[in-house]
Amino acid sequence: MNKKIAMKTPIVEMDGDEMTRVLWQWIKEILILPFVELKTEYYDLGLVNRDKTDDQVTVDAANANKKYGVGVKCATITPNAQRVEEYKLKQMWKSPNGTIRRILDGTVFRAPILAKGITPYIPGWKKPIVLARHAYGDVYSGVETRTAAGDKAYLLVEDKEGNVKEKLLVQDFAKGGGIVQSVHNTDKSIESFARSCFNYALDVKMPLWFATKDTISKKYDHHFKDIFNDLYEKEYKAKFEAAGIEYMYTLIDDAVARIVRSEGGVLWACKNYDGDVMSDMVATAYGSLGMMTSVLVSPDGNYEFEAAHGTVTRHYYKYLKGEATSTNSVATIFAWTGALAKRGELDGIPELTAFAKKLEKATVSAIEEGKMTGDLVPLFRAEGVTPVKLGSEEFLRAIAEKLA
Ligand code: NAP
Ligand code: MG
Repeated sequence: MNKKIAMKTPIVEMDGDEMTRVLWQWIKEILILPFVELKTEYYDLGLVNRDKTDDQVTVDAANANKKYGVGVKCATITPNAQRVEEYKLKQMWKSPNGTIRRILDGTVFRAPILAKGITPYIPGWKKPIVLARHAYGDVYSGVETRTAAGDKAYLLVEDKEGNVKEKLLVQDFAKGGGIVQSVHNTDKSIESFARSCFNYALDVKMPLWFATKDTISKKYDHHFKDIFNDLYEKEYKAKFEAAGIEYMYTLIDDAVARIVRSEGGVLWACKNYDGDVMSDMVATAYGSLGMMTSVLVSPDGNYEFEAAHGTVTRHYYKYLKGEATSTNSVATIFAWTGALAKRGELDGIPELTAFAKKLEKATVSAIEEGKMTGDLVPLFRAEGVTPVKLGSEEFLRAIAEKLA
């Protein structure tokens, strides 16, 4: 047995719920602990402990992520009324991801994991398309109302003293009622979104595309375009040129058309609503939720890695009954490898980064050889390879075999 790889700084480990909590333990035992002298600061974000600590554990974990720079998070339950009942919760705690995002002030990047044999619905996509969604403002914190015939709706802006600075007629509903909506964003949030995107593009050496509808929205969307362009010119142009990647701004409809025609290999930055809609399109088009990773990057360079899917409740209840499960652990494995690789990079431990890449390779090649979980079997097509459905733990053992 070779010597285990030593670490310097701990990774902030955020445990979670249900089936993904089960996978979490197995991934560590089977794929990481035999090879790495794993150093983590552990936070139990499972719903039981969040309730016990009045959700303080989520805040503590996010602050630890800020302190150490790198975290890895297991999927967690966001409670609804049914979960409040099921877990006898003190209250309906907020989404942990929302809390962490607020504290880290980050942008979420979602990237598909590609394996030969799992063909995207758009066959021209050969490389990953990474989607960056601005996670603040626009219609997600909009104000809206219904109007009646004869109403007039205005957009009103007051200064600090309460003097009316601007009063713009939105619509005179003289001929009949309707609806009206008002949205906002802030320079600070747009700028940190832009910064996260530029940094991530440099990190992974991918060209960055950003798109809005500035031809129609000449102040609002145009402001996004200006902030991105100014920041690019001032701080990032030289770095992009040195890295041999480009920044391109275009219109959102043009971007959609280009994405479909592209072979992938692009970081696509989207406004909040565009990102919401397009990330589901891109994720589905690549094949499976179990093959999509997610990383939250803060403007000051903190990273939180996770899988894009949930806690896979249906499989968990089968597991509890002792029935066989075949839950895809790939995205959770890649959350761990993302964190380990980043830690290795920051701490100057190339062996750690190399191990993470090796584990990713072993995972993908297990699938390419036909060993996979049930969700992938119907998607798999490769000449001469018959896909075999493995159990949740069995799949991890198949990867471990390749690793050793
Ligand atoms: P989900 O856990 O993503 O699962 C939905 C369905 O997708 C599963 O039933 C399964 O389909 C399939 N699936 C998802 N991940 C899979 C995997 N790794 N391997 C195989 N199949 C997979 O979403 P949900 O059922 O809507 O939500 C469950 C809980 O997760 C909720 O409490 C929600 O709050 C939470 N959630 C957490 C996060 C997060 O922490 N980031 C994100 C989303 C949801 P089949 O049943 O057909 O096999
Ligand atoms: Mg969505």
